[in-house]
Amino acid sequence: MARKATCPHCNQFIEIDDGFKKFQNRKYHLICYKLAMEEIYENNKKDIDPKQELYEYICKVYGTQEVSPMINSQIERYMTEYPTWKYSGILYTIRYLTEVEKTDIKNNPNIRGVGFLPYKYDLAKQHFLIVKSANDNLNEQLKNKTIKDFVIDKKIRLKPINYDNNDKDIIKIEDL
Ligand SMILES: [Zn+2]
Repeated sequence: MARKATCPHCNQFIEIDDGFKKFQNRKYHLICYKLAMEEIYENNKKDIDPKQELYEYICKVYGTQEVSPMINSQIERYMTEYPTWKYSGILYTIRYLTEVEKTDIKNNPNIRGVGFLPYKYDLAKQHFLIVKSANDNLNEQLKNKTIKDFVIDKKIRLKPINYDNNDKDIIKIEDL
């Protein structure tokens, strides 16, 4: 009697009634096949050139086919002026502003292109590191908090503000 195949995605046996789909000579549950393909797609996206990913995001925000010459020259200038900057960091900063701080960078009259980048780059990076260093359960909640929602305690561990807690030892991040 033939051994039951094990699905490489969930490591469970595939029962005869389950149905399966083959990929690279392995049998997958139908639902697992779908999930596995999505994962492969997500991983492929990570191979996208970071500059291309940044420019695609800017086009999406501005609803244009191409990045305007002004924004293009701003970005190139900043990349020269700030040697430690990365395109992925610029992308994160713009995403931080639009998705977390909910700033309408396209229509705000005080914003000229991406002129906010030198003021926001490090702030967005801090936010990224807080979210990244927090455990997975907290991650989803933290993603939507701005940097002002965090405090640093005496041991310089970042944690979300507990607004009910009047602990005097807590130092606000903007006081540092
Ligand atoms: Zn499976």
